[in-house]
Amino acid sequence: MEVKYFKCENCNHYQLTTEFGECEECGYEDLVNVTQEEYEKGSKVEYQKLFQLRGIDIVECTPLRIKQADRKKDLHYYEIRHSDENWGEPVCIRHGILVNHFGTIAARTPLPLKKDDFGYEEIELTEDEAELIQQFV
Ligand SMILES: [Zn+2]
Repeated sequence: MEVKYFKCENCNHYQLTTEFGECEECGYEDLVNVTQEEYEKGSKVEYQKLFQLRGIDIVECTPLRIKQADRKKDLHYYEIRHSDENWGEPVCIRHGILVNHFGTIAARTPLPLKKDDFGYEEIELTEDEAELIQQFV
């Protein structure tokens, strides 16, 4: 069967041929035909850059932990640790943080983590970077 591409005129949702011929998002029935190219462009998730860290675009920044199941497949997630003395001060970024969890960030491309003396891959945050992160959590 030939795949067809549609766009919903009501909510601008892009989708492939569906069994019922209506929009998966809003149920609207007037779908317009689009080309494969338009579909790919339109259905691509656009992430908004919050800030840059070491030249990498950070698109999510939250004080919460994000479960593996809730993580988006095309993003790279890291957790931030706060210092022992000050819970409001982020000090380093690793793949996972057990204690002193400060927040979670997600990037479009991998961050340049470096192995520390204990073998942990991390980024030790500078004061400027810590302040930047504090603005977005
Ligand atoms: Zn719709």
